[in-house]
Amino acid sequence: MTDRKQAAAGGKAGRVPGPGPHQQYGASQHGGELRYLFEQHPRGSETFEVAPGILWARIPLPFRLNHVNVWLIREADGWTVIDTGTANAEAKAVWDELMAGVLKDAPIVRLIATHGHTDHIGLASWLHDLSGGAPFHITMVEWLSATVRIDESRSPIGPHSLKFLLNHGCDQITIDSFREERRRTNAQMLPMPTAIERLRDGHILRFGDRNWRIMVCGGHAAEHASFWCEDEGILIAGDQILSKISPMIGVTASEPNADPLSEYLASLDRFRALPGDPLVLPSHGLPFYGLRTRVDQLDHHHQLRLADLEGLMDRPSNGGHTAMDLAHGLFARAVAEGQGRHAFSETLAHLHHLVAIGRAARDVGTDGRITFRRVSPVARSGSRPDFETASG
Ligand SMILES: [Zn+2]
Repeated sequence: MTDRKQAAAGGKAGRVPGPGPHQQYGASQHGGELRYLFEQHPRGSETFEVAPGILWARIPLPFRLNHVNVWLIREADGWTVIDTGTANAEAKAVWDELMAGVLKDAPIVRLIATHGHTDHIGLASWLHDLSGGAPFHITMVEWLSATVRIDESRSPIGPHSLKFLLNHGCDQITIDSFREERRRTNAQMLPMPTAIERLRDGHILRFGDRNWRIMVCGGHAAEHASFWCEDEGILIAGDQILSKISPMIGVTASEPNADPLSEYLASLDRFRALPGDPLVLPSHGLPFYGLRTRVDQLDHHHQLRLADLEGLMDRPSNGGHTAMDLAHGLFARAVAEGQGRHAFSETLAHLHHLVAIGRAARDVGTDGRITFRRVSPVARSGSRPDFETASG
């Protein structure tokens, strides 16, 4: 690991001798703390080589989460680029520097998107055009859902979305912040490239002289793709597994009865089952070792939130607990800091999971108002509430 630290200190993409094929990066250690490949991150258009031919760059984001990691992967005839950042001047400036620097001698020959969120594909069509139409790899659902989101961002919140927010007890501030999010999406996402190479779960995609198994998982996005190189023990995790923060698992008006947390927790089992102690390359934060430790932490984080929600539902309420009421209790600080929109979506995801596993029930009033209540263990053993019929 020392030589990689030197690469970090040296900055620009020094090639680092790594283990040969079929060797694992890092020691085989499954418990305990996460171990970071570097203790710092690249700045500006600096790149760090995280494995032979795989460069890490950081693109600035105009959000509270202020960066996204992108991976530049050396090919015999050019570069594969994974993820892009949002469409704004600061992000473009870093890409311009990368293209005048480390990428200058060879063209971009392939673009890959882990998923269709703004920070990952905002500049996809810009890079696609600059590359002269390099193939754009993404899952079908992420391509289409990003296209729908871009389209939706051009119009005001419609009656369906407004009803969804009001029925769940959202206040005006939260509704306004959903409006603001649309404006932001509109500003920060260019239209999607109009042709794709489709990523499919379990298929092998070869890039950077390695075979990568595509892992398509739900939870954070409907069809998020991660890439697993078993020969060398490298996982390009995207947002599915992050080193410090928990990826957003939320329900929104676009799929009001979704249960993304069940999908996310199921995906954790798939990552837990990967052999060895992979080098994990996440889309935010630092590359690390200790995948199983991190998977357990993320699982634990959600189990705590679920138990907290049960406690909150035990409190007396005035006509039942709406998701927004519960969000105030579950994520009080986030709500106070103006993150009510995320708090609401995350709370609803946790509630839908509780309903799905029989630990909560959902009631719909004659006025459409949706409330949740805890299902006691006794009632639970009798009959399992049916989410579909309860959804009204
Ligand atoms: Zn992200």
